[in-house]
Parts: sequence; structure tokens; C-alpha cells
Amino acid sequence: LVSRKWRVKPTVLDLGDGVTIGEGALALCAGPCSIESEAQMEKVMDHLVANGVRLMRGGVFKPRSSPYAFRGLGLEGLRDFHRMARARGLKIVTEVMQVSQVEEMHDFVDVFQVGARNTQNFNLLDALGGVDKPVLLKRGISGSIEELLSSAEYVFSGGNEKLILCERGIRTFETASRNTLDLNAVPILKAKSHLPVIVDPSHGIGIREYVPTMALAGVMAGADGIVYETHETPETAASDGAQTLDFDESARLIRNLRRVYALR
Ligand code: PEP
Ligand code: MN
Repeated sequence: LVSRKWRVKPTVLDLGDGVTIGEGALALCAGPCSIESEAQMEKVMDHLVANGVRLMRGGVFKPRSSPYAFRGLGLEGLRDFHRMARARGLKIVTEVMQVSQVEEMHDFVDVFQVGARNTQNFNLLDALGGVDKPVLLKRGISGSIEELLSSAEYVFSGGNEKLILCERGIRTFETASRNTLDLNAVPILKAKSHLPVIVDPSHGIGIREYVPTMALAGVMAGADGIVYETHETPETAASDGAQTLDFDESARLIRNLRRVYALR
């Protein structure tokens, strides 16, 4: 069902209020790795609004390698995130980690993110097949392109056709970068599937100074959008600071992404 054989025309998702994801317009989504506080959100939101970005990312349930690392503000943080975003005309993308969270998060999200550690959590995919909100599905940490499409098939066949595929880098033998951003996946996914494809260069390379380059490369590879991490002070971010852009870097990237998209 997610194949071009089933549907030739590219799917464009309409999030409402003029925000779309899919062919015809560059979708930009930015924000901190983790939602930390109202003050932090306010600064990020001001930055996004000033730069015409309508979609904000930010985790409240964080999958962390260490149980001692910051694991997010949870549902209470999500309520604040949602309220503040609504007041500013922003849509929000946030990660859901388990089936029981789908219902409790439902009214406070615009797009459910399925993280790379949950791409093959088939129970979660089944649950998301039953909701009426878009799902941003990340490629698994060691997942193949075919496995990503199969995971998308779970959600789609469950009845939820609002899906976005995300290349976020895979684990390879290479240690010079956090992950290996597989830009090959972009044209391949676009050819195989009618679903929108976006690139996450932040997790893809994991090194702040190279994130803009890989974001631009993602657009040239044919991505419908880019999702990346930004924070007023990346050095103090509660998670993923090393791959997070400050607002100057982010504003420059947004300008360049629009320029490059217009050249395609
Ligand atoms: C994130 O978006 O912050 C995240 C944890 O992403 P991934 O699942 O791709 O590692
Ligand atoms: Mn992150």
C-alpha cells in the first residue's frame, strides 16, 4: 500500500493551517532534541516563527542509551509544548515510545514520531495505524530501506495513511560520525513509495558543524523536507547538544535550504 505500484501520485499531507508535507513545498521541522522548560521553548518558538518555520520538533519521552541521562518532561511537558505551540500557530512533532502513550498523547500532538529504536515495534505501529494523526517514521538504527517500508506498511494497512518516512542515518563500521546518513535512501524511497521522505541530518551525522552541509545534500537528493535540532545554547542542551545548531546557524541553514530547494 505504501508502494508506487499502489498509488502513483505522491502523497501530500495537510496538517492544517497551511502546513503541508510532501511534493510541491519544502517541509522544515526544527527544534530541540528534548523539551526542557517553558523558557527554552519560548526562545525556540520565537526563532522558528521569525524564520517562517511552522513545524517544531521536541521530545518529551526520550529514548536514552543510559537510564541516568535526561529522559524528558513527559506528558506534563507535552501539554505545555502543545499549548505554547498553538498560541503561536506552530505544529508539533514528538516521539511516542509505547502503545499506552498513544492515547494519552493524542490530543496534544500534530505528528507522532516513531524513533529509530522503535521502527520495528510492531505493536506500536499497529496502534498508530488506528489514529487519525500523521506519523513520522524513522529508519531503524540498523534497518534496511525495505524494513522501513514494511514498518510503514503496518501503519498504512492499519488504516492510517498519513505517513512520513525519515532517513536519520544507520549504524555502520564508520566511527568518524555518529551514524552514516544514507542519502542513497532518499531517491530509492521516493521511487519505491508515494509517501513523503524527509532527512534528519542531526542524528544522521551527529556533528554540529557538518549538519547544514548534509541537510542541503538531503534536499538535493530529493527530500521533501528536513528535520534538525536547534537550541539557543546547544552547549547546555539536555540531550544531543553536540549535533544541535544555535539560532544563527539555524537561520542561515533555513535560508540556504530554501535557496537549494528552489534550484531543484
Ligand atoms: C530524536 O529525534 O531526538 C531521536 C531520538 O531520534 P532517533 O530516533 O532518530 O535517534
Ligand atoms: Mn536527538
